[in-house]
Amino acid sequence: MGRVEPDSPRRVFPVRLMQSDRYILPRLALVGDAAHNCHPVGGQGLNMGIRDAAALAQVLGQAQSKGQDIGHVKTLQPYQRWRKLENWVILAFTDFLDRLFSNQWPPIIGLRRVGLWMLRHIGPVRRIALAIMTGQFGKRPAIAQVNGP
Ligand SMILES: Cc1cc2nc3c(=O)[nH]c(=O)nc-3n(C[C@H](O)[C@H](O)[C@H](O)COP(=O)(O)OP(=O)(O)OC[C@H]3O[C@@H](n4cnc5c(N)ncnc54)[C@H](O)[C@@H]3O)c2cc1C
Repeated sequence: MGRVEPDSPRRVFPVRLMQSDRYILPRLALVGDAAHNCHPVGGQGLNMGIRDAAALAQVLGQAQSKGQDIGHVKTLQPYQRWRKLENWVILAFTDFLDRLFSNQWPPIIGLRRVGLWMLRHIGPVRRIALAIMTGQFGKRPAIAQVNGP
């Protein structure tokens, strides 16, 4: 690809909950941190980006096989609907964890202890939390699954 040069000045942004209002415009689709950002406490950013890319590839592949214009907003809309909602769940959960674990107010410390106790002792709570943090809920892109499509 040759040398990659910045096409704008270097910028810094905080690692906190952010999500773009729109993931798509005509001939444009945002994936990964360009579309959303969260605190690294949950280790989710790269995972979400990979699922975005896989979902976009799936949507574009299906459109192309039907002879549709892959850059048209109508073609890209299913990608935005799919990923924006699912990313919100993970972003909100990660933000909740960040706030919960960075707060030293005694009632919050108590709540944290109750939450950790529930994770350890209540199977369904543990399974739901695991499903959210490992992307095992919602619609999974075929090529992002462990055994492939
Ligand atoms: C401390 C920390 C720990 C993390 N731990 C985890 C983890 O355990 N698990 C996990 O899933 N995620 C984790 N993440 C999040 C993960 O690193 C990001 O979500 C992921 O790297 C985003 O990938 P990306 O390709 O979308 O963006 P980036 O990795 O940010 O790549 C974008 C690239 O574009 C370049 N670029 C930007 N603007 C321009 C421009 N104008 N011109 C040219 N190039 C440009 C940048 O230099 C960069 O190389 C962590 C993040 C941090 C900060």
